[in-house]
Amino acid sequence: MIDATSMGTTSHKGEDSNEMDQDVIAAQWNTVNDQLRGEIGEAAFQSWIKPIKIRSIENGVVHVTVPTRFMRDWVVAHYAERIATLWQSESLEIASLEVSVRSDRAPGQPREGIRRQTQPVNEASRNMSAERQGMSAALDSRFVFDNFVVGKPNEFAYAAARRIAEAESVPFNPLFLYGGVGLGKTHLMHGIAWHIRQTTPERTVLYLSAEKFMHRFVQAIRESTTMDFKDQFRSVDVLMIDDVQFIAGKESTQEEFFHTFNALVDQGRQIVISADKSPSDLVGMEERLISRLNCGLVADIHATTYELRLGILQSKAAQMRAEIPSKVMEFLAHKITSNVRELEGGLNRVVAHAQLIGREISIEATQDVLHDLLRANDRRVTIEEIQKQVANHFNIRLSDMHSARRARSVARPRQVAMYLAKQLTARSLPEIGRKFGGRDHTTVMHAVKKVDELKGLDTGFAEDIELLRRMLEG
Ligand code: ADP
Ligand code: MG
Repeated sequence: MIDATSMGTTSHKGEDSNEMDQDVIAAQWNTVNDQLRGEIGEAAFQSWIKPIKIRSIENGVVHVTVPTRFMRDWVVAHYAERIATLWQSESLEIASLEVSVRSDRAPGQPREGIRRQTQPVNEASRNMSAERQGMSAALDSRFVFDNFVVGKPNEFAYAAARRIAEAESVPFNPLFLYGGVGLGKTHLMHGIAWHIRQTTPERTVLYLSAEKFMHRFVQAIRESTTMDFKDQFRSVDVLMIDDVQFIAGKESTQEEFFHTFNALVDQGRQIVISADKSPSDLVGMEERLISRLNCGLVADIHATTYELRLGILQSKAAQMRAEIPSKVMEFLAHKITSNVRELEGGLNRVVAHAQLIGREISIEATQDVLHDLLRANDRRVTIEEIQKQVANHFNIRLSDMHSARRARSVARPRQVAMYLAKQLTARSLPEIGRKFGGRDHTTVMHAVKKVDELKGLDTGFAEDIELLRRMLEG
């Protein structure tokens, strides 16, 4: 056991087999803090997480203290599981969090505490041999199918994910999920993994990010253990690789992934992949890999609609047992349109604030609490969205936005997209150029001038641009 009173002053390395180095604990706690801050926002972080003090770590239980009973109950109900899960990705030894109230009592006196055991930790330590070897990433206990709100933009991806999770044989291979950031790709993948672990625990599921896949691969090469690496990856029943765009342009990792992929498909094992773009739009990915990725079922998660956002808010508020006036919920669903992660973060902050002041929150107070988030959402059009919308409109491939092709049929739409990027985002000319296949800022300048000129000459063209602008501004 480590006593937090000595944290950061002296180190008692190696006195006890259970002991972890205090600097390591402090560093892990820091990492957990950073992630939490990103997830729940600065205000909630300051209110609930900042006051937490680490007391000790004993047999996988992190003992922490907070100043009041009220805070203890709140932290236990809302953050304890998440903290344990996040901490577990830093150190597999961590199993749960125990929260108690700080007092001036004499040492050794019993503490009042509530312990919360997290589901993934139990599961993970029971049946994941791959996990123990550090192959699989921890699963988030909140990312189950039951917590996923289904609407028009994601119903197809959801149905495909459920099908994979419930199927006895392989219905399609691979399942390729794609969509913008924060729209639920990781949630669905974890949902598949949880479902399989629950219903058919004898099947081995390996979930990890493409980044982690690469690091493991590089490590295996360095340590001359590539045979073990191959064995481990090729012996699973279900392999899930998240954010595969990460290995674009990384040739040897792609090569290894390609062979792993083929070996598993040949043996009839299931593969699930996610990315931020469709297979054909993954720039820097080998043709043969792209064609493999296109072979199974490709499911697109679209940007959220107002109805879906409202549904998600209601579901999350119910989970938190928080009573938020429907006016405020509607306001949030209208205003935070970027992605579900930000929507959740906004709701968490509003709930935390309502708890602090102890009464219903108004729209005015919400505007105040979320001013930074709301401002960011006002300028929400991204260059990627513009490229997508314009490519769609002119019926060209999204990849032509980055390509070197100069044919008028692709060059003109590209110029239109550059023009709209200049008008609708705060990006500079060089930044815009970079997003269009690394073009020079003078090319963007030229495009802006050209489009302005054409608008004056051709009213049909001018109307097209106006239409695109209105669609993008939503
Ligand atoms: P991605 O991997 O696509 O970037 P995530 O799966 O990490 O996005 O989702 C971001 C956050 O939004 C997560 O907390 C997730 O639970 C939540 N989320 C996304 N879509 C939904 C949904 N349809 N219902 C409930 N929560 C969702
Ligand atoms: Mg993700």
